[in-house]
Parts: sequence; C-alpha cells; structure tokens
Amino acid sequence: MPGTGKQKFDVSAKTPPAARTTLEFTGTVCSGCGEVHPEDTLDENRWCADCQERVQRRVRIGQHAIAALIVLPFAVWVVTLEKFEFLPGYAWLLPLAAAYYLGLRIGREAIKGYLRWRRVR
Ligand SMILES: [Zn+2]
Repeated sequence: MPGTGKQKFDVSAKTPPAARTTLEFTGTVCSGCGEVHPEDTLDENRWCADCQERVQRRVRIGQHAIAALIVLPFAVWVVTLEKFEFLPGYAWLLPLAAAYYLGLRIGREAIKGYLRWRRVR
C-alpha cells in the first residue's frame, strides 16, 4: 500500500513531545562524556561527577604546562639580556610569578576549552 509509510509518519508527528520536553528540562549534557545527567549533579562547568575528577586532574597538569611554556621564554629573556641588570635578579621573580599565575589562569580555560572541543569533534 502506498499510504502506509506516510500514515506511520503522521502518527508519530501528532504525538505530543511531552516526554522529550521533560527530558530536556531535567537533564543536561555533560561537557566531559556527553551523557545526559540531572542538572543539579553537574558543576558550574557542566562536568558530571564521574568526569570532574578526571578532567580536573588534566586541567591541573595542562595549566602548569601552559604556564611553564609562557614563563620559560620570559625567564630566559630576562636572564640572557644584560640590560636588565638595573634590577637585582630576585626582583624579576615577581613579574615571573605574575606571568606564571596568568599562565595558570589562561591554561585552565584553554584546557577546558580544548577538552570540550575534542569531545564535540
Ligand atoms: Zn561526564
């Protein structure tokens, strides 16, 4: 019968999307694993409890790596350029520490963004 497929389609289209709507309101997709979890179990970054520990460990490692990548050339630059001797060596620890702190902040967001981007791919 030519009308069978169309009939089936009409039936599903008339079904109220109540179940789907309820799911969307009670569940949120985790940024780490992509699974749907109840909204109140996710943290502010939308990681579920299972992902939080795994992701936070990667973020801690990654942000220090990025901070080191930012600070190391800066430190080498300070050490190798003699014209910076107008300041005693220890005085450069403060800007280096500030750069490292900034690197941590930047790295944290970068790693979180990277982990999200990698899941979306
Ligand atoms: Zn998850």
